[in-house]
Amino acid sequence: MIITSNSDSDDRILVKKLARAEQIGNQQVPEVSLRPQKLTELIGRQNEKHILSLLVHATKKKWEKSEKTAADHVLFYGPPGLGKTTLAHILANELGVTIKVTSGPAIERQADLIAILTNLAAGDVLFIDEIHRLRKPVEELLYPAMEDFQIDIIVGQGTASQSVRFTLPPFTLVGATTRIGLLSSPLRDRFGVHLHLDFYATQELEMMLERLVKQDHLQADAEALTEIARRARGTARIAVRLLRRVKEFALVHGEKERITQKIAADTLDLLGIDVYGLDRLDQAILRTMIEKYDGGPVGLKTLAAAVGEDEDTLEAVYEPYLMRAGFLKRTSRGRMVTKLVYEHLGQMI
Ligand code: ADP
Repeated sequence: MIITSNSDSDDRILVKKLARAEQIGNQQVPEVSLRPQKLTELIGRQNEKHILSLLVHATKKKWEKSEKTAADHVLFYGPPGLGKTTLAHILANELGVTIKVTSGPAIERQADLIAILTNLAAGDVLFIDEIHRLRKPVEELLYPAMEDFQIDIIVGQGTASQSVRFTLPPFTLVGATTRIGLLSSPLRDRFGVHLHLDFYATQELEMMLERLVKQDHLQADAEALTEIARRARGTARIAVRLLRRVKEFALVHGEKERITQKIAADTLDLLGIDVYGLDRLDQAILRTMIEKYDGGPVGLKTLAAAVGEDEDTLEAVYEPYLMRAGFLKRTSRGRMVTKLVYEHLGQMI
């Protein structure tokens, strides 16, 4: 993509093209190639690495002694883009088993789940993303499958119906959710390992960016990577995405295509991401709370309607970071902005 920009109107076109490129980039560029494949390749996540490494080694030890069992079921939870899918793939890879990937909403009927479960081989990993969105009958079928590797299926109708028990190959269920609170306790309790994935530190994101830059044989100043990492809301996926935009900008505007701090900052400014990493919706949330609700308290539903976003996205994606960064707090009467927002008002909204 060639973009040149000499005037205000050219800048507007550039913004549009970058926004479009971002849309295309998000949809089409596969992340799989960027994903670390082994625990040792993972940046940060020391605690999670340790726990998963123990699980892998213990499972492999059991395999040496007896027939193939499965590693305990694992639940990853936390906001999107923090590595849940990556860790599921790494776990399967480290165990040397196949991973089948699906998601809560994709399993519509019990029959869909039965088809998936009966096609697994002993020891395989079944990854269910957005597991909080499983339908109740499907979830209930999972309970005996997770606990005893068995499912009971009703065959026939009326008085002729009977329950037939199927024995499944032992498998490891890896569940991922952005909304742990929506998971029923019978399902949550059937996972032996619960891992909460927290936001990354800026330094960890810098290391991820450095690795990506190296993979692409690009030149980037350390300050440029810090600038991107600082504005990536502690989220690996956002850091990866912002780097793509900065690379494009450097290609068009940079000298010798080198990524400098100025290029990184100019790109991020252009995309409407402020120095705190807040994007336009974050800024709209805080602005609306101040302008319409005197800083709060305001209920989630009201806030979602006021900014035109659905409640689920606000709660799972936006709120955790705004709270973590100290801009928002939850009270029994609703959400409120903090003093910090007023202190930085000029710079942020
Ligand atoms: P989630 O499933 O939580 O939404 P993903 O596993 O899809 O998140 O991760 C998003 C992106 O961030 C992927 O490109 C992934 O490779 C990258 N990523 C996440 N965590 C790490 C990490 N610790 N080290 C390197 N890359 C990471």
